Amino acid sequence: MKELQQAEKRMFRDHPFYTCLYAALKKIEDDAVNTMCTDGREIRYNPAFVSTLTIPELLFVLCHEVLHVAFLHQIRRGDRDFKLWNVACDYAINGILIKAGLTMPKDGLHDYQYDGMKAEKIYQLLKDERGNSPAPSGDQGESGDDTAQADSQGGEGETSTDTSGGNQPATGDQEVPWGEVLDGTSEDGSKLSEVEKSEIERETASRIYEASQVEKKAGSGSGGDASRGALEAIAPDPMPWHEILQDSLIRSMPCDVSFSNPNRRFLHSGLIVAGNVYDQTGDLVIAIDTSGSQSTEELKIIAGRINEIVDVIKPRSVIVIYCDYTINGEPQVFERGEEITLEERGGGGTAFNPPFNWVEREGLDPHAFIYFTDGFGDVGPDAYHDFTDPDYPVFWITTYSAPYFCGCEEFGEVIEVRDRNY
Ligand SMILES: [Zn+2]
Repeated sequence: MKELQQAEKRMFRDHPFYTCLYAALKKIEDDAVNTMCTDGREIRYNPAFVSTLTIPELLFVLCHEVLHVAFLHQIRRGDRDFKLWNVACDYAINGILIKAGLTMPKDGLHDYQYDGMKAEKIYQLLKDERGNSPAPSGDQGESGDDTAQADSQGGEGETSTDTSGGNQPATGDQEVPWGEVLDGTSEDGSKLSEVEKSEIERETASRIYEASQVEKKAGSGSGGDASRGALEAIAPDPMPWHEILQDSLIRSMPCDVSFSNPNRRFLHSGLIVAGNVYDQTGDLVIAIDTSGSQSTEELKIIAGRINEIVDVIKPRSVIVIYCDYTINGEPQVFERGEEITLEERGGGGTAFNPPFNWVEREGLDPHAFIYFTDGFGDVGPDAYHDFTDPDYPVFWITTYSAPYFCGCEEFGEVIEVRDRNY
């Protein structure tokens, strides 16, 4: 099609990043498609739709499909409602295209409040917003693609938490105007396996990297936000701090425990954890930096996470030290089997050295030392108070930054708390 070639020409000239990714997609004319759609392997377009667009608008829709693929929208829907997923995905990418100076056709979905958000998050917000408002009695067949629509309508059981999925029409008050993303499939049209999905993830990440290199070489282009956004969107969510901590603590456990009775909780992650008591697990020391003044509610959540971890690794005891500039009150000792509770204590300046020194003075050799802090403070020989270098595993669970290591090498594993609510 002439229009298509003209739009492509502009893409090749002005948008090297998009061009690289576009080149990997097969282009197929298809009257059965409402507007244009992609499944990650090909772009299908209806010539009647294409001819309604100006060349800059057509360029936008082509780049829009490219971004659906770069963001892996075709493999991330899960059992979410097909139509609402498409709406969310459009919000996730159109802002980037507009910022890149492209011209969005009318009816395009864009809202600044969603800029920089992942489609999954936007989907959740849209769903919450719609709440339980009754679904408009929409025609099920009006959306663009028949196969994906059929797929989204069937099969998902009543147990799904997604009330707009299943057999009901989508509860969309918004239509997907054009440029849909369909579920990716295997070559033979069957559902993608997890292995195939990770293969697609790897390929896409390397293509994005290549495309951004090409753009860099070209010395100009519009793909900066797109490549950053895509790489962020397709990166797996970081694990929450308590899961990272638990995995690290398990890895640091003695290996000569019986594996005859694996704990089922960890089978999915490939970690086989013995289900019996680890008599070899010594004391767990927990320091709470009280200068950051966690609320009682936050301390409750932290305590809950610690109890979960303690249930798994079963230390001999858990010792809790509260410290701001100095240690506040007597450290609390919880014996095996006791529930750990935390309380608000102190709240002055910050010094990290005192709890390490206390452990040394007490002659303890903890299984691990976990410090909860916002990171604002010094640790080491040049920091406040004297300092004894710990020779046991240390974990900094920090809500803001890593501590400042003063006169010593960094030590311990820094685990960032992603959500201020722990
Ligand atoms: Zn779209």
